[in-house]
Amino acid sequence: MAGVFNQVDNSIYSNAMTFLRQPLVVDPINSDSNIVVLGFPFDMATTGRSGARMGPTAIRHASVNLAWEGKRFPWSFNLTKHCKIVDAGDLVYNCGDSEAFCQQVDAAVSTLLSADKTILALGGDHFITLPLLRAYAKKFGKMALIHFDAHTDTYSNGSRYDHGTMFYHAPKEGLIDKNASVQVGIRTNYKQKDHGFKVINASEANDMLADDIVSIIRERVKDMPVYLTFDIDCLDPAYAPGTGTPVCGGLTTDKVLKILRGLSGINIVGMDVVEVAPSYDNSEITALAAATIGLELMHLWAAKHLSI
Ligand code: MN
Ligand code: MN
Repeated sequence: MAGVFNQVDNSIYSNAMTFLRQPLVVDPINSDSNIVVLGFPFDMATTGRSGARMGPTAIRHASVNLAWEGKRFPWSFNLTKHCKIVDAGDLVYNCGDSEAFCQQVDAAVSTLLSADKTILALGGDHFITLPLLRAYAKKFGKMALIHFDAHTDTYSNGSRYDHGTMFYHAPKEGLIDKNASVQVGIRTNYKQKDHGFKVINASEANDMLADDIVSIIRERVKDMPVYLTFDIDCLDPAYAPGTGTPVCGGLTTDKVLKILRGLSGINIVGMDVVEVAPSYDNSEITALAAATIGLELMHLWAAKHLSI
């Protein structure tokens, strides 16, 4: 009967759906892995529509569509041949207690980073990036932030747990260097002279070539350790309707993929994809975009840090 009960087949529709059909592990610290996929099913910091707690599950489900390809177009290497990926499921935390969540994120992520694992974090609302950055900064020091979003998330008037405030707090806490950071896709109210980040807003980005955007980002981050955070609402609602606070006039998936591939060689150390809220999605458009971006980020990391 061997094979009949195979839980890790390569179909795009059956069996347990881990990220990219990679092994599910309960002990990622001691796993033989380079990259650990970890979900953060938290959406208590949303200011608009909630639902991003269902994001990790939806992204995993969509990701199995990407597992069959092997060497992914147009990359020159087969990621899973060079890079061992495991899926550690979702972070367990006390639902309803945001401070306890922060502590759980810090404990889990710090332990993984101490074991020299790289993490692909799947949100969850964007607030998860703040406790993630706190854990990363303990290992890497002050980082450059590459931030894709419709919103700057630099607002200071929210509560301590508000998905619009992380990048107000992160520079103040010394986690990121504004002068080495860039925000791409912004199309909500901001005053660059006040908030200090370099912004390539969505209107500009849509008129620019991907290569020109890449040059600006590279010039900004140089060889600093980079944390790349991707709020799925950077994409236009046509490409990512399944999110809590969609804003018209965003980027296309094609533009975003070209930018990400163009960043090959940057010193990326951390990465997340956040704000997928599948109850507002259609035909898994948003979840597929998020899974694809997550996969591209893994390629970016592997291209830099593994001898390929
Ligand atoms: Mn946003
Ligand atoms: Mn955001």
